[in-house]
Amino acid sequence: MTIRRVCVVGGGTMGSGIAHVFAQRGLEAVLVESSSALADKALASIVRNMDRQAAKGTLSAADKEAALKRLSVVTSIEKAAGFSFAVEAVPENLELKKKIFCELEIHAAAGAILATNTSSLSVTEIASAVKDPSRAVGMHFMNPVPVMALVEIIRGLQTSDETHRTVCELAVRLGKTPASARDFPGFVSNRVLMPMLNEAIECLREGVSSREDIDTIMRLGMAHPMGPLQLADYIGLDVCLAIMEVLHQGFGDSKYRPSPLLRQMVRAGRLGVKSGRGFYDYPKK
Ligand code: NAD
Repeated sequence: MTIRRVCVVGGGTMGSGIAHVFAQRGLEAVLVESSSALADKALASIVRNMDRQAAKGTLSAADKEAALKRLSVVTSIEKAAGFSFAVEAVPENLELKKKIFCELEIHAAAGAILATNTSSLSVTEIASAVKDPSRAVGMHFMNPVPVMALVEIIRGLQTSDETHRTVCELAVRLGKTPASARDFPGFVSNRVLMPMLNEAIECLREGVSSREDIDTIMRLGMAHPMGPLQLADYIGLDVCLAIMEVLHQGFGDSKYRPSPLLRQMVRAGRLGVKSGRGFYDYPKK
């Protein structure tokens, strides 16, 4: 099936980036938000990000105008009806994602593929909400979507080979590199990344080193662009804790035990950049 018209549900950090990339790469994209104020906010953030690309010289004025013509924002999935591909990027809540998948199935064109951008929930379980789970798949974009080259493609237990192939081709059309994983807790990206961040937090808790030295060792020693404590602050310590809990429960293995310091930071409301304070301070500008 040739995908021309896509539906993106949720216009927050990820959904607005995903809709941006679809429109920029020549597909007609309909972004669904839960109110017109949030839809307008999502559109404004896409325009701002495109302006940033234009200022950097990576998007011409004509291409920006053409991309915005291909993009529309609506307030219900019904208003986006007839799409041949959809991706949901609503908050990380299993019941909400299953409900969105059911609604997408009702309003999709025959044979449409439904994708979830979940970073930790079971793709197989989200797919179980629809009549044909062979056409459901995980498409895990990285933040910020217009910049990051990878899309982790997650095959649910019942995802068909054809669905898998189609979304890999779609990722290439978006200028991204697809890499596939099976549906196990944390997939590959978060199963490898999160325990590393958790271990850095344990190093801090045990007094092995200072926060600055932990970050410097990993930044300069391993050529990481950012130290693990700073990265955890950027991701959000609540998000890190939630993913560690998915790994811990999913595998039942104590090696994924969330650091007690991570738990304490979340309980104190020190969530990182978004709350102004995590392992470092982020004063409001
Ligand atoms: P976010 O909170 O920034 O955005 C979620 C958006 O969904 C909000 O704007 C909200 O208004 C909207 N929404 C909620 N219910 C809706 C509904 N019924 N219909 C339409 N819109 C609705 O969240 P985010 O950071 O963009 O994350 C979205 C998903 O992407 C999550 O599953 C998350 O785990 C995953 N993810 C996030 C990142 C990241 O770095 N932020 C990276 C990869 C994957």
